[in-house]
Amino acid sequence: MIVLKFGGSSVADAACMRQVASLVDAARPRSPLVVLSAMGKTTNGLFDAAKAAERGDLTAAMDGQRKLMAAHHKAAEDLFADGVPEALDAALTDLFGELELLLRGVAMLRELSPRSMDAVASLGERLSTRIFAAYVEGAWVDARTVMQTDAVFGEAAPQVEAVHDLAGKHLGPHLGAGRVVVTQGYIGATEDGLTTTLGRGGSDYSAALFGAALRAEEVQIWTDVEGVLTCDPRIVPEALPISDLSFAEAAELAAFGAKVLHPATIQPAVEAGIPVTVRHTQKPQGRFTTISAEVQTGRPITALASRGPVTVLTVSSSRMLAQSGFLARLFEVFGRREVSVDLVATAEVSVSLTVEADVPLKALLQDLSVFAKVEVHEGRAIIAAVGERLKSTPGVGAQLLSSLGDINVEMISMGANEINLSLVVKQESTAEALRRLHRVLVGGAS
Ligand code: ADP
Ligand code: ASP
Ligand code: MG
Repeated sequence: MIVLKFGGSSVADAACMRQVASLVDAARPRSPLVVLSAMGKTTNGLFDAAKAAERGDLTAAMDGQRKLMAAHHKAAEDLFADGVPEALDAALTDLFGELELLLRGVAMLRELSPRSMDAVASLGERLSTRIFAAYVEGAWVDARTVMQTDAVFGEAAPQVEAVHDLAGKHLGPHLGAGRVVVTQGYIGATEDGLTTTLGRGGSDYSAALFGAALRAEEVQIWTDVEGVLTCDPRIVPEALPISDLSFAEAAELAAFGAKVLHPATIQPAVEAGIPVTVRHTQKPQGRFTTISAEVQTGRPITALASRGPVTVLTVSSSRMLAQSGFLARLFEVFGRREVSVDLVATAEVSVSLTVEADVPLKALLQDLSVFAKVEVHEGRAIIAAVGERLKSTPGVGAQLLSSLGDINVEMISMGANEINLSLVVKQESTAEALRRLHRVLVGGAS
């Protein structure tokens, strides 16, 4: 079997869904499981409506609900020229009824817990899959019967063993050559049936997990670009598709901000040895990226990514730094305060670390001040240059720094796996730094 995942822009309206249906039809002989996101910006719309309700602004919340309802009904009407099938119409009415109840509940209590937010957010995928399954006359499976997760609402972790069992039980029987099975990305449920989500952009992760559970021969991620590109095309328009990427490179790129893939996507597929391809829904004959276990690309740097803002903390202690145990004491504080560290660079009298910009620093800084001096620099960004051959190509670091010209590099770190060289620059220099690095180090790649 094969898994095909389509993102929000791929199912934004009836015309997009028709295109998706033609791709799914072509895959029928391979027993396709279709994993869909919500239509277009529906998830954002659901978040906005829920937040309006939380403020007590029921008018705005219901307005949001009506807009979403109109867009979904229009898509259904456009798809079914002879009239929307009764069962689909009833399903849409039920789902929008559920949304209205949830929004009224949130507005009444003026309280929006992550648990309520997940219940609201789940509607997007449940709606899009109902419409699409009816259109391709496929089996519709509620992903919440398969994607069992913990109860960390908003960022739930799948319970992989349970997902494997449940996929066999609830998806397996529907699969078969010629048939189409449609389910939702992003959503899941706790063991006792409470709706959860895997975090924004989580549909890629769902697709990889379902693929691993069902031993798919391939997981195809269909989106609005011709694969993983050498850089974010919104920043570097001349970025090019990469034809082959190793799992390690893809994971580094995803973790360092390449939005095209959810950071956790790769893991289940790597473990199961399943290739993941990233393809353009509107250009199915175009270029695409294959991500597989081992790939030796010809270039030292395959792609660039960036993430920011981050905060740099420079910790120094003339008394203790050279003594053993200093780093242990330092990281014990980060561990206790549950602040995760991304990059680390050490010098004789100081250690620099980066943390996410929005982590609460007050308690952490207080604890550190007991034994060290800390400087805090906000508004920085991490730029990651990723490539399997980085470690074996002399001179890349020098080329990297010289191509940046007058852009000041405040920190440098080579990842332990030696395929990621990360730099820290001021957030406002990020775009220009990426353009310069791309021109010199990646331009002309394939
Ligand atoms: P989907 O809705 O299909 O899941 P996303 O919006 O999550 O799509 O991801 C696709 C987007 O990721 C692209 O439109 C592009 O703007 C962005 N992106 C960022 N970095 C990269 C990269 N290195 N390669 C490709 N796309 C990237
Ligand atoms: N619909 C969800 C989101 O917008 C999940 C996804 O698209 O992957 O975040
Ligand atoms: Mg996405």
